[in-house]
Amino acid sequence: MVALLRALLWVALCVTPLWASQATECATCKDRGMVACRLCASKTCDSERGFLHCSVAQDCGECGGVRWLDCEGCARPPELDLAARRADLARWRAQQQPIDEFMARRDLVHIDSAHFRLAFDLKRSPYKGVSGPHEAAHRMLDQCERSWMEFMADSGVPPAELAGVTQVLVWGSEKDQEKASSKWTLERSTSVAKLMGASPVLSLCHGKGRVRDEADLEHELVHQLAHCLLSNAYKSTWLGGKKAGWVDEGYAHFCEQRRSGSVQVWCSLSEAALEKLEPWKFELEVARRTADGEVLELASLSGLDTVGLSPLQRLFAWSYVDHVVRAHPGRLGALVRVLQQDKPTSEAVQTALNVSLADLQLGWATWVKATYVARKR
Ligand SMILES: [Zn+2]
Ligand SMILES: [Zn+2]
Ligand SMILES: [Zn+2]
Ligand SMILES: [Zn+2]
Repeated sequence: MVALLRALLWVALCVTPLWASQATECATCKDRGMVACRLCASKTCDSERGFLHCSVAQDCGECGGVRWLDCEGCARPPELDLAARRADLARWRAQQQPIDEFMARRDLVHIDSAHFRLAFDLKRSPYKGVSGPHEAAHRMLDQCERSWMEFMADSGVPPAELAGVTQVLVWGSEKDQEKASSKWTLERSTSVAKLMGASPVLSLCHGKGRVRDEADLEHELVHQLAHCLLSNAYKSTWLGGKKAGWVDEGYAHFCEQRRSGSVQVWCSLSEAALEKLEPWKFELEVARRTADGEVLELASLSGLDTVGLSPLQRLFAWSYVDHVVRAHPGRLGALVRVLQQDKPTSEAVQTALNVSLADLQLGWATWVKATYVARKR
């Protein structure tokens, strides 16, 4: 019994100072000086590839998107600089204001990442398994970032040489698309329009015209972002208007083909030309034509702008880019860099790939035979 009392006394002596120190601790914030916002506890921004800001998160009336609040139970400074975060969010939101004001809208979802800014106007998610517009906007931003990662790997362009952030605008009505494209891409269009160069912009309408479902949307996004990213590298010059349309449209088709296994976006072809398009399977078609001696040589494509390329020329342009990216890894960017300096394709190939145009043509033919599966006839 005495031993038990002694033990209890010892425990009491040991524990008392601990209670004393606990009394000075703020029970509300556990001395962190901040508490998690309860309104935001159940809400998340579902993003696989990361994002910087989201207007939906910022709509929280309690925390303004910071997700933390200063502790009201004590005067400790918050562990994180909440004031700086609030200021950053407010500054960013103000930067998106011109879009809301010009479009006279307050319900657009704005989100951004390191390389893209997205203004998203769809009221329903275009993606299967993605519930609402907010989630869909994050999904689309993820797709944009994926295009960026792929472009960097394909091209070997150092990140510092691709400094521009691409603005992507997605509309649910042709009227809004027309208004936005005229303003920010400088090209009036009810379907898809883009501005290339140092600050690329892509504006498109979903649900109408040729962009009707999830697959169409992915084709369009992947194809057009390829143009935007390519035009943003180095001197931010669009090669499609610099007599190197084969790289410009060839790379856009390459990205589409890789992502979706087929090609369905053809820039600057008339509706009549689009109706007449052959439903080519690109690899098989090039393999067949190569076997039959119907090759369009690269030399015959150089010197043409994107707008001047026929569907058949685009098919071969795709294949030459396919060869450059896969057989000369990381050299596409070097090729782009020389072509931006108004050099002919022959000189760009020699400088960037260290082969003559004739040798590239021969290397391509061998590669095509080994890589593409020829159609059984
Ligand atoms: Zn969000
Ligand atoms: Zn909140
Ligand atoms: Zn506290
Ligand atoms: Zn294109």
